[in-house]
Order: sequence, then C-alpha cells, then structure tokens
Amino acid sequence: MNFDSFALHPSVLAGVNALGYVTPTPIQAEAMPPVLAGRDVMGLAQTGTGKTAAFALPILHRLLTTPAPAPGKPRVLIVAPTRELAEQISDSFADLGQKTRVRTTTVYGGVNVNPQIARLRAGVEIVVACPGRLLDHVGQNTIDLSHVEVLVLDEADQMFDMGFLPDIRRILRVVPANRQTLLFSATMPDDIRRLVAEALTNPVTVQIGRVEPAMTVAHALFPVAQHLKTPFLLELLKHTDTESVLIFTRTKHRARRVGEQIEKAGYRAASLQGNLSQNRRQAALDGFKDGTFQILVATDIAARGIDVSGVSHVINYDIPDTADAYIHRIGRTGRAANTGDAFSLVVPGEDDLTVRAIERATGKPLERRRLPDFDYNQSAPSRDTEFARPPREPQRPRRQPASASPYPHSRYAPPSHQSSGNRGGNASAGGASRFGGRSGSRDTGGQR
Ligand code: AMP
Repeated sequence: MNFDSFALHPSVLAGVNALGYVTPTPIQAEAMPPVLAGRDVMGLAQTGTGKTAAFALPILHRLLTTPAPAPGKPRVLIVAPTRELAEQISDSFADLGQKTRVRTTTVYGGVNVNPQIARLRAGVEIVVACPGRLLDHVGQNTIDLSHVEVLVLDEADQMFDMGFLPDIRRILRVVPANRQTLLFSATMPDDIRRLVAEALTNPVTVQIGRVEPAMTVAHALFPVAQHLKTPFLLELLKHTDTESVLIFTRTKHRARRVGEQIEKAGYRAASLQGNLSQNRRQAALDGFKDGTFQILVATDIAARGIDVSGVSHVINYDIPDTADAYIHRIGRTGRAANTGDAFSLVVPGEDDLTVRAIERATGKPLERRRLPDFDYNQSAPSRDTEFARPPREPQRPRRQPASASPYPHSRYAPPSHQSSGNRGGNASAGGASRFGGRSGSRDTGGQR
C-alpha cells in the first residue's frame, strides 16, 4: 500500500513525498479512509505510530477540496493537552501542508496573547490549541469557532489526567454540533469512553496496538540503595553510550540536583523542571534535540511532549509511581525500529510493588543487573541528605492556568503488536523515511 491509494489532493501528496513517507503506517492505513469519508473516528493509538499524519492528511485534503464557507475563520480545531504537543502538531501540518497555502496557528497559555490574536485576525484555517487559553479567547471573543468543521481531540487521556475534561466540555458547546470529530487516546478509561459517547456520532473505532512498551526497548533494573543513586548513576553513565540520555527523577528538586551533579562530572547536561522560565525550558529542549546536551534530566510533568526520536537511553533515577507512567517514560526510546535501553534504579524493598506492576504490564520479568565495578557498600556521600531518603514530593499534573506553564505530555513509542514489524520494515525499506529515525531531532524540529 502507498499514499496514492487515498486519492489525496496532489498538493497534499506532494507534502507526503517531500517528507519521504513511502508507506502509510497502520494507523494511517486504517484511520485515513473513514476520516476522508467524513466519519467520526475514535483512534486508540499512541504517539509514535504516525497518528498525527493520520488526521492531518485527510484534514488538509478536505480544506483543499471543499470551499471555505467563511474564508479566514478556523475550519479545523485541534485540542491538545500541552503546548509542546500543540507545537508538534502544528509543525506536522506545516510539513505535510508545505505545498499548500493552508494556514495553521497555535493557541496556548504562558505566552503573550496579542500575537495569537493578530494571527487569528489575519485568518487561519487550522487552530491547534490547549484548552485553557482557547477558552480565554472564546471568552474574549478573539476567536470565532462557529465555522469549525473538524474537531480533533488529541491525547484525550492526557487531557483528562490534567483535569481538562470540564474545559473540553465547554469547548464542545462552542463548536458547531454538525461537525466531524476525531478523538485520539492511548488508553480508554471510562471517562474517555463517556466523552466519546458525548462528543462523537456513530464513530468508527481504530485501534492500533496495545499500550505496551516498544519491543525494541531492552529493560533492566539496577537495584541500588537510595543514598548511592547518584554515584551509581555516574558509574552507569560511564558504561553507557551517552549519545542522548533522558533521565527521570521524581521531583523538581532532584532533577535540578542530579542535572548539576552530572554536569559537574563532565557531561553536557541540562535539567528540565517546572521552575524554569519558558525560555530556559526551550533552550534545554532545543539543546537536547540538537545534541548540545547529551543528557537531559527531567520530571515526568516537565518531560511531557518531548519527542526526541534519537533518545538512546531512558534512565529512571527514580522509578515512577505506576506502570503506565513507566511505559510513558520509556516511550521516548525504542521508537519505530530503533533499539533503546530503559534502565531503572530501584531501591530494594521500597520499589518492589511498582516493579511487580511494571512486570505485569510488560508481560515479563525485568532483568536485574549489577555494575561489577561499583562499590555497593560505600557510605552515603556527605552533605547530600536529599538523596539519602526517598523523594517526597511526587509531582502532580496541574491544571493549566492561562498564563502559566502547562506541562506537556509524553509521547509514546509505537506499539509492538501486529503492526510493528511492518512499520520497522517500511521504515528501513523506505530509506528516506523519518519514521522514528535516530539521526537529528524530531522530524520537524530541525526546520524551525
Ligand atoms: P506521530 O505518531 O504522529 O508522532 O508520528 C511519529 C513519527 O512518525 C513522526 O516523526 C512522523 O514524521 C513519522 N511518520 C508518520 N507517518 C509516517 C510514514 N507513513 N512514514 C514514515 N514516517 C512517518
């Protein structure tokens, strides 16, 4: 199968070709026909499966093949949980629509509202928005959603986790009832099912893979005492190809401290945590993407939205609370056919329950490893009491106020399932494919 079979508008197909996509991914093959036919679609798929193009291509096709009833007013509204994801989606539209004149803009909090108002006034076809700021615009009458033909709710489960469900319901009330609605979610908890029943009409369900870690990821546990985690991490890094390593800690404070200590040990490292200004956050992210930093230390919340195809290792300095969170974290590595490693430092006794939950979720026991050269009997590093005890302030997703940082959401690895073999094959056979390619940053990042 190739993209010709969808009979896309030639300018849309030209964008696909320019990106070097040869074969549709399974979600594209399954979701694009019903989306093109105007059906509502519920897509159960993770990030990394090519789902953005699965809705972006039919949307671009629609915009080019049907007249605008009110030129310059948004015809498509895409709602996403975080600004990073909103930017990524907008980038994908820009890439896929590079041979078209379709205009896309993003709308999210934490940045000046005036440029957003100016762009909306100048006229756009597609708005990619986070819920809070979008509703601010609605309240201020600076956006007119009365001509929206297609509504996409992306990463619905994350929006729910972040407390956006009431906002979504408000948004549903201000878009026309007679619209096409597409909802994508990696998981389908009851609340999302209810939302689907409210927001979608007779939807086609497309399910790609299960929520499970990419098969290409090798998982290993490293049992180590709490107070030895930092020296252990440094030892582990010595033995690790540090091309690009994403390290997770459970608290902001630990992210900052671990980042500092790694830097002190001579690595090019940055930390990403909620206390950073948007500029510093962006600098850390960009530096990690372009290779300036080999290592990025982040909390779960701060790391949401990071889509770095080339992440070779994820290290859980602190193991996450739940198996789901573990899978989200390691989704950063092992995308498509690449291999990656997921290492977790676990404190025997303290982390046992979580480890068992992860083993159930991954369907196999995790390999326990030891570092032969590490002195497991050394005493605690002096004057660093923070690391002698378990982390105490687990981060909770916060609702996104219009003016503060919304913390973005994780990107998953492609599911294994029946489709992963194909996709890997396609990716390598295509040669030019950027599906999870490890070189460079994420596909659109380099261009902006
Ligand atoms: P997504 O799940 O939308 O985040 O997409 C994951 C990655 O796959 C992105 O880097 C896309 O550019 C890439 N991609 C999407 N569709 C294809 C395709 N048919 N062939 C190759 N790469 C693709």
